[in-house]
Amino acid sequence: MSAELICIHSAPWVVPVSRPMIADGGVAVAQGRIVAVDVLPRLQQQFPLAKHIHHSAAALTPALINAHIHLELSHLAALAAVPLQTSFTGWISQLLQLRDSLGATGDQVQRAAERVAAQQYASGVSALADIGNTPMGRNLAGAFPGRLFPFKEYLGLAAFTLDKNLNRLEQEPESVLCSGHAPYSTHGRLLQQLKARAASLGHMFPIHTAESAAEGELIREGRGAMVDFVRTRGFWDGAFVPRGSGGSINYLYDLGVLDAATLCVHAVHVSPEEIRIAAGEGAKVCLCPGSNRFLRVGAAPVRQYLEHRILPALGTDSLASNPQLSLWREMQLLTEDQPDIDPAAIFAMATWGGAEALGLGDCLGALEPGKDADVLIVPLPAATRTVAQVYGHLISAGAAIHPTRAEH
Ligand SMILES: [Zn+2]
Repeated sequence: MSAELICIHSAPWVVPVSRPMIADGGVAVAQGRIVAVDVLPRLQQQFPLAKHIHHSAAALTPALINAHIHLELSHLAALAAVPLQTSFTGWISQLLQLRDSLGATGDQVQRAAERVAAQQYASGVSALADIGNTPMGRNLAGAFPGRLFPFKEYLGLAAFTLDKNLNRLEQEPESVLCSGHAPYSTHGRLLQQLKARAASLGHMFPIHTAESAAEGELIREGRGAMVDFVRTRGFWDGAFVPRGSGGSINYLYDLGVLDAATLCVHAVHVSPEEIRIAAGEGAKVCLCPGSNRFLRVGAAPVRQYLEHRILPALGTDSLASNPQLSLWREMQLLTEDQPDIDPAAIFAMATWGGAEALGLGDCLGALEPGKDADVLIVPLPAATRTVAQVYGHLISAGAAIHPTRAEH
């Protein structure tokens, strides 16, 4: 590689994520790839003819990954604009009502989704897993400057919906990524078929899992607020057989749909045994602290995930359940909720954890040779002197962080 093609970005702090922070470091990039990450003098020695750009009072970090969002719900922001006055199932009813009255598609819906996608990229997010029920995500994916994975979500718990859904799924072009909504809303056989299709096409399988206590009650006992809600909608027909014990992860494991390409989104109401099962299968977890806080469903057992070597990803979920969609804010809320978690682990969730969850570990998630040269320049307060202060800023400053991307 000719030396003049190499560009070194340097800063007081480099946060590779996959190894300890580097003071007075740099990232050497060439042709869109990282070629070296080191202290600046060593990079200059290694690449004496390289172009050099210094970013003062800043940290260089990998781009962020938002592992769970619903862009097509962006026009429903009124739902989360004021504190929730109802239960989780009450919120689902409100969401369906508002979507019925405003429409699920159309120019306004599209513009709201485009605005959120643009904000995501501007805030430093380079990859999104977007869940939707309309073709909107697929339209947005083409215009997104990073990677946007548009998942088409299937629902249908009742037996009478099964054949129709299985037929629909069979007709889907291979280019359409399909996933299931949740254990409480999607027939087990449909989940199995969706997972088998995802596996054969080699893509991940995101699914809302163990989000509310009411979901657990449905899975175990076949009663409670979630069952009442499903019954009211006309989809509780006895097709789902309550399991007596265990939770959603037990259920997904027994269905055979839990593996290293399965992304359990929310994963709040999860027992120690289920965490062991998830870890054993290499299953991925995506936490959504902002949505969980708004919907008051509880907080995920983050320490236990980390103890079992599950590094969760982070997701914002949608504007219908989260007043502000910023991955920086998700880190801030997680830090507030769980102040004993290592700040470096929290930043790793927003980067490395997300990349692993979306199958992007080879190109994103860390500053390492061979990965994409997608480097964020995060301004730091002038008084930043220590590693702890850098991490403290990254995970606690929230949406006040406005990074730029290193250009080369
Ligand atoms: Zn969601």
